[in-house]
Amino acid sequence: MNVETRSERLSHLDWPFLEDQHRTLARALDAWATEHVAHSHDGNVDAECRALVRSLGDAGWLCHAVGGTGFGGAADVIDTRAICVIRETLARHSGLADFAFAMQGLGSGAISLAGAPAQKERYLPRVARGDAIAAFALSEPDAGSDVAALRCTARIEGDHAVLDGEKTWISNGGIADFYVVFARSDEAPGSRGLSAFIVDAGTPGFDVAERIAVIAPHPLARLRFDGCRIPLSQRIGAGGEGFKLAMRTLDVFRTSVAAAALGFARRALDEALLRATTRKMFNQTLADFQLTQAKLAQMATTLDSAALLTYRAAWQRDHGRNVTKEAAMAKLAATEGAQQIIDAALQMWGGLGVVSEQPVERLYREIRALRIYEGATEVQQLIIAREMLKALRP
Ligand SMILES: Cc1cc2nc3c(=O)[nH]c(=O)nc-3n(C[C@H](O)[C@H](O)[C@H](O)COP(=O)(O)OP(=O)(O)OC[C@H]3O[C@@H](n4cnc5c(N)ncnc54)[C@H](O)[C@@H]3O)c2cc1C
Repeated sequence: MNVETRSERLSHLDWPFLEDQHRTLARALDAWATEHVAHSHDGNVDAECRALVRSLGDAGWLCHAVGGTGFGGAADVIDTRAICVIRETLARHSGLADFAFAMQGLGSGAISLAGAPAQKERYLPRVARGDAIAAFALSEPDAGSDVAALRCTARIEGDHAVLDGEKTWISNGGIADFYVVFARSDEAPGSRGLSAFIVDAGTPGFDVAERIAVIAPHPLARLRFDGCRIPLSQRIGAGGEGFKLAMRTLDVFRTSVAAAALGFARRALDEALLRATTRKMFNQTLADFQLTQAKLAQMATTLDSAALLTYRAAWQRDHGRNVTKEAAMAKLAATEGAQQIIDAALQMWGGLGVVSEQPVERLYREIRALRIYEGATEVQQLIIAREMLKALRP
């Protein structure tokens, strides 16, 4: 039976947060992904990621990940709802396709937001076409949630910066053509002393120190900088603006992490419905039991609640409003909710649910990191409470 008819999976596109252009985009991408993107992967994630970036670029989807119509972007400012419907749709079809799209945006986001015209000209059109792969290098072994603790240094020597230190958990590490690297340039103490630099792969003094294998495989690496000289023309924005730029970049993409979680959850609900209505037991089907119906009801309610929060945040951002609290709520609700939905779907599949490369088994692994990166759940909780308490102050 066709899973696509099961959960009225595109009905949320009619919600008033979206416009016709988003509906058209989602439907066209869904049709494209059905034809071009496989849910299972053959094991060589580097090759698969490169191929996905190539085909997403060739088909024109990557232009939504880049800001600036003069530089290959679909719009001058990245449309949050567009990247949300794209990530939700791709995640439903393939975690790796969603990853490939998202990293092109996150990796080039600082350039879209604050790059000099020459930097935009050099990097953004290639990102949008899928000719260059991008990476965002902020985290370090001792600076994850606590970004301001980062120690990688950028010493200014004449018209160059010299980078020394390490970055870790860098997605696309090892296959990226360029990395946006945040380092301590010491214009001021703490977070006001960081700057962002574009480092091309192959620059002397820059190495991929270690590839990292994770539960849902994708290219990931620890990077090492050892006297790596970068012309100051590769610095994005002014010295000391790196922290703000990193936060602005994450702010654009945080709501889209929630959207990716929705895509995984939607696929899990489809799989749950498929199994519940076809698995025969005790002279009926699994779906005939009220315990199963209660589970399905909870899954659908959790999913719609998270989707409403996600598209509220995206709508608010596209209307120029502050979304610090709303984006944090969306990421928290969607990633935690998706984990519960996927777990319930896997349970319905019984033993088959834990067989390698079954869709629910894959989703079970794919969702996990979303509760950690771009601000762990606990960090989102702190942001929400801080914003609420701030609003109470006179
Ligand atoms: C698959 C994957 C891809 C990634 N890709 C990138 C990338 O492309 N670029 C990049 O720069 N980074 C990337 N990261 C890094 C990611 O952003 C960090 O892992 C994340 O910020 C958490 O940092 P940490 O791992 O050092 O955990 P820690 O900072 O040590 O936090 C550990 C745990 O502590 C808890 N915690 C944190 N703060 C608080 C608090 N205030 N109160 C209570 N509990 C708290 C949370 O549960 C958190 O998970 C990636 C990570 C993963 C797993």
